[in-house]
Amino acid sequence: MSQYQAVKGTRDIFPEEAAQWKHVEEVVHTLASLYGFSEVRTPVFEYTELFQRGIGATTDIVGKEMFTFLPDPGGRSLTLRPEMTAGVMRAALQRNLLSQAPVHKLYYISELFRKERPQAGRQRQFSQFGAELLGVSSPAAVAEVLTFMMQVFETLGLSGLRLRINTLGDLEDRARYREALRSYFQPYEGELDESSKERLEKNPLRILDSKNPALRDMIAGAPRLFDFVKAEGVREFEAVLRFLADRGIDYDVDHLLVRGLDYYCHTAFEVQSTALGAQDAIGGGGRYDGLAKELGGGKEMPAVGFAVGMERLLIAMEKQGLFATLNPHGPLVYVVVQQSELADHGMQVAFKLRRSGISTEIDLAARSMKAQMREANRIRSGYALFVGQSELESGQYALKNLVTSEQTTLELQAIIEILREPSIREGLKA
Ligand code: AMP
Repeated sequence: MSQYQAVKGTRDIFPEEAAQWKHVEEVVHTLASLYGFSEVRTPVFEYTELFQRGIGATTDIVGKEMFTFLPDPGGRSLTLRPEMTAGVMRAALQRNLLSQAPVHKLYYISELFRKERPQAGRQRQFSQFGAELLGVSSPAAVAEVLTFMMQVFETLGLSGLRLRINTLGDLEDRARYREALRSYFQPYEGELDESSKERLEKNPLRILDSKNPALRDMIAGAPRLFDFVKAEGVREFEAVLRFLADRGIDYDVDHLLVRGLDYYCHTAFEVQSTALGAQDAIGGGGRYDGLAKELGGGKEMPAVGFAVGMERLLIAMEKQGLFATLNPHGPLVYVVVQQSELADHGMQVAFKLRRSGISTEIDLAARSMKAQMREANRIRSGYALFVGQSELESGQYALKNLVTSEQTTLELQAIIEILREPSIREGLKA
């Protein structure tokens, strides 16, 4: 064993699990294109100020969880991205995307970094897939991103999900609400825990997120943000709920769901999975029209998006047995070389097959024929193609189906034609 271990909070993904990732990623890519979202990739690090402004200085992420470093003495501080929205918005503003088209629908599958205490479902390097719809944040736009997200879950076969949804009103509603919350919690100040005391000053909405059981009753009795939302905001929220109902998407309205950041507005949502333990949030999102302005974009830009944790998604799928049937194919052909002097010829044959789009494996260690056959079976090859002296002379090669043991002898070109048949995998080892 090496004296080096993977860094705490990171993990290695080996081929069997990588196949699960690929499966999930393919579903995300396919559905993104069905819904008209285009992929965006942004740098892994950004200037630290982007996250300070874009996520909010009072949040745990910015306060304690960022991997921040100085590239060189006197340089500007950089941070490994702890979430995607700020970077995507920065990129959109930098490129002035909305001057090119009024609406942009972007999605990503990306790695993120947070200095959190590692535990099941919580890592220091993790991935999210998500979408950002820029330029319009009508109820239809909110429903569009939510439907995309829920269809990914559905296509993957996930069950036991709970979508919680709330409206946060606009900035003005929340300013009034913040004051009401302060007045409500003030008399209890002595009973609040340290972090809630701090929040009372900076951002009392975040007290509602507290998981401390001692505060549960106090929080339950607090004024509700919903009662501060103006009629127009309520109408909009109802329109979102109607869209979801029309699409058969179940939801629970949860008035305690708040996202404590100023630039969030109107609809906010979160999805939980019963297949997960303590870290049961699988994804969340909402509208953030104010973010562009916060990032110096001059004015508000309608925007709505979501992010789903890939690791948690995969854990939930594994627990529900959704990978049981995911059995990646071995190569279609294993080229078996009968004598080591023919190794070059074998390589030539393998090369031709691969150039013709046929997945092919060949021994690279000049092992015995028996060892090659054992390996061909171990990696679940569909066929063995034999290369021996007589094949070399006659140009006729023996092709053996490793499931049925049937064997045919044909010219290489004829074999290539057969193996290129789209239905060739049927009846082979899965
Ligand atoms: P957030 O950006 O905090 O709203 O997180 C969105 C989703 O990302 C969560 O619901 C989780 O599924 C996932 N997530 C957040 N933090 C972590 C982490 N440290 N490790 C693994 N997944 C995470």
